[in-house]
Amino acid sequence: MSIELALRLVVILAALVWAGLRFSRLARPLLAAPAEARLWPFAPRAWGVVVNILGHARLLRKPYAGLLHMMMFFGFMFLLTAVVQAFGEGISPLFALDMFGGATWIALGQDIFAILLLVAVTMAVFQRVVLAPPRFEGSNKGDAAIILGLIAAVAIGMLLQNACQIRGGDPSAAWRPISSVLATLLPSLGLTGPAVQAGATAFAWLHMLAILAFLVYIPGSKHLHVFAGIPNVYLRDLQPAGRLITTDLEQPKLGLSEISQLGRKQVLDLFACTECGRCQEMCPAYASGKPLSPKLLIMGLRDHLLDKQAGNGDQGSAGGTLIGSVIKEETIWACTTCRACMEACPLFIEHVPKIIDMRRHLAMEAANVPDGISGAVLSIEQRGHPWAGTRFSRLDWCRDLDVRVLKPGEATDAARPGAPAARGKGGFRDSR
Ligand code: SF4
Ligand code: SF4
Repeated sequence: MSIELALRLVVILAALVWAGLRFSRLARPLLAAPAEARLWPFAPRAWGVVVNILGHARLLRKPYAGLLHMMMFFGFMFLLTAVVQAFGEGISPLFALDMFGGATWIALGQDIFAILLLVAVTMAVFQRVVLAPPRFEGSNKGDAAIILGLIAAVAIGMLLQNACQIRGGDPSAAWRPISSVLATLLPSLGLTGPAVQAGATAFAWLHMLAILAFLVYIPGSKHLHVFAGIPNVYLRDLQPAGRLITTDLEQPKLGLSEISQLGRKQVLDLFACTECGRCQEMCPAYASGKPLSPKLLIMGLRDHLLDKQAGNGDQGSAGGTLIGSVIKEETIWACTTCRACMEACPLFIEHVPKIIDMRRHLAMEAANVPDGISGAVLSIEQRGHPWAGTRFSRLDWCRDLDVRVLKPGEATDAARPGAPAARGKGGFRDSR
């Protein structure tokens, strides 16, 4: 075994172990969280994945951002063949994808998708630096720069490695138009003779190290959505929009006051967030200057979860309480529950249930609700409506009118064929 091969194996092994440790840190809270019953029905859930992941339905509501993500997504998917090649050939010189088209159509696809990937990276840099939409305010800009740099390094390393190999007589040259053009430029960079082989080795290392760095970096970055996005879309809420998730009044603690109380899909939500800011952009509370950004709420919960998981003690947000320290009470009460954030999110992250559950804790456990709201809640509890200053109940207005009052779950006359017409005057009955 050559020294270089041994070094490759050590680096690959070390990176896999490192990435495995970082992924296991994320897997622990995910597996410990109670699972919601969201696996079925399969067909509509799987169709949602096709439409929203492969079809980029929600992402393409912003054509520029959607298109660049689409190019990046499909470019990356195709370049997985180059990842297989890089590691296979790096470990064994006998490895080849030739019998599957590795020197023909796969080679052509790699060249084309590598260029698409680089165009997408350039568009993403232009979007972040020049267009700089306000929805990115508060997002982690350094994280985005590292990710874009690593994606570019993967594509450039592969193209230049192939260019060097073409100068050394690679038979797939006819199927690699971009790499062939680059190969003609190598002599002007001083890569001739034995330097070409050295260049091929150096670029192969660049390619491999960029892939490994990407793998190790992902668990702590917004690019975790590469893994969390598909299951998060699959497990999305299929209930009618706006229907609240009911709570079990018998459980020892009502609502959400500790990050460990989140269900599995709710934890997955935190890992899936790309910090794209589409939710923030649509939020009326944020737009009107209220202390609420649905994006920062999700990021705050995620960072708190990871700080707790890492056992950071009092560092970061680990030592603080979820409500008050990580998420301010005024943030929780600033939400209008309009769901615009959830409608905008390309990964179907559920902001409102988390906010409602934190409110439930404040109202039911901490008896701590803002003055204006506590009066309304008390009034609803006593009289069925939120208004103060009256002793009328919710249904007094129609006591002498010809109005039929439904019981919970009862169908309306319109929905019930053959149902009797509305009762005559005095037919009122309060079925609450
Ligand atoms: S539901 Fe709340 S957080 Fe979401 S957009 Fe509406 S006000 Fe903002
Ligand atoms: S919650 Fe969704 S819309 Fe908001 S920043 Fe995260 S991924 Fe984007």
